[in-house]
Amino acid sequence: MGEPLGFRCVGCGRTYRPWGHDYLCPDCGPVAGALDVVYDYPAFARGGIEFPRVGKSSLWRYDPLLPVGEEFAVPLRSGGTPLYALPHLAQELGLGGLWLKDDTLHPTGSCKDRGTAVTVAAARRLGRPALACASTGNAASSLAGFAAAAGVPCYIFVPKGAPSAKVAQLVAYGATVFRVDGTYDEAYTLALAACEKFGWYNRSDGQNPMVVEGNKTAAFEVAEELGWEVPDFALVSVGDGSVVAGIAKGFRELRMVGLTDGVPAVYGVQAEGAAAVAEAHARLRRGEPVLPARGEARTIADSIRVGEPRDALRAVREVAATGGGFTAVGDREIVGAVQELARRAGVFAEPSGAAPLAGLRRLLAEGTIPRGARVVLFITGSGLKDPQGGLAGLQEPPVIPPDLRAVEEALG
Ligand SMILES: *Cc1c(COP(=O)(O)O)cnc(C)c1O
Ligand SMILES: [Zn+2]
Repeated sequence: MGEPLGFRCVGCGRTYRPWGHDYLCPDCGPVAGALDVVYDYPAFARGGIEFPRVGKSSLWRYDPLLPVGEEFAVPLRSGGTPLYALPHLAQELGLGGLWLKDDTLHPTGSCKDRGTAVTVAAARRLGRPALACASTGNAASSLAGFAAAAGVPCYIFVPKGAPSAKVAQLVAYGATVFRVDGTYDEAYTLALAACEKFGWYNRSDGQNPMVVEGNKTAAFEVAEELGWEVPDFALVSVGDGSVVAGIAKGFRELRMVGLTDGVPAVYGVQAEGAAAVAEAHARLRRGEPVLPARGEARTIADSIRVGEPRDALRAVREVAATGGGFTAVGDREIVGAVQELARRAGVFAEPSGAAPLAGLRRLLAEGTIPRGARVVLFITGSGLKDPQGGLAGLQEPPVIPPDLRAVEEALG
């Protein structure tokens, strides 16, 4: 296991001793005081770093750059998801290469299982008896699944508008579920208060530094699969900002330890109706204060329907460090991306999971991504989690009588 050097505050830069604080820098507080786990990168660069094959394909093989060892992990697999090349679509779009990182193929169906795996292992290492989080749905189902595998109680706060399939997962996994009559942002605040009162270990984005440590392994896997040749651009959708921050951090760490020569420009894709992180990044570029980051939260893409992004500062800093940026796309474009991904690649994503394809088309049209570029899209959540969300405009299949003539007629 990698021994972290410290937990560094994203806002003031102060570094605390590892495990000195569970959540935030006490001086800087929420969002500004998110803690970042740092390792001895120069030592790895000098001495070399190896990722041992641990017998199974999971994120635990990146042990040297993780804060907790596999001995604390629950058996559910996290990481080791496929990277698919899409040469035909690449050619059509004038790209030098296009890949999908298919993180829908996780035990609970979303990329959240990366951050959860590391967080739950940390809870076991620290001896925390109960887990909790607020979530638009996926972090909740992920935590509920891993808590079930760990055999520990789990308390979940979701907005009452969370898609029914995600709530079904929570119920199946046996979590104690609070459906909050309010927004995700309100559920988040309530979960914080409950964790403080009852002593539950909080997995919520922007609170727990372990989440980003898991999220970053998606970048490790992409770079490794491409033979440590990083792509030119990496696109991922953004709600709170913890996933994009992790991916940018992962690529940066690989360069710092000497495994890769560069980092891709990481672009965060938001929905036009929920673009507070993109706006925060625009302020950073104008030299204005990044925080507070707040805005409206209206989109069909429920996993990125966030009005008060809890990891906004970390996200804009990490993205800026890669030379990347943010874009925002409309719901119509997101639905188009769900259908195009399903039909062209055989990957059925929920709207938030497909949004990077809509972002790619935007960034190509405005010339931010040039012809010939090599691009990776991170596909973060399965379409089965919100099957209606992406199907607008498609016809329901007709019902026919059970005879062959009806088939012939239907075929026209
Ligand atoms: C959580 C999630 C995101 C965004 O991650 P944030 O850390 O909230 O920015 C994107 N897509 C899916 C499917 C998610 O579950
Ligand atoms: Zn601080």
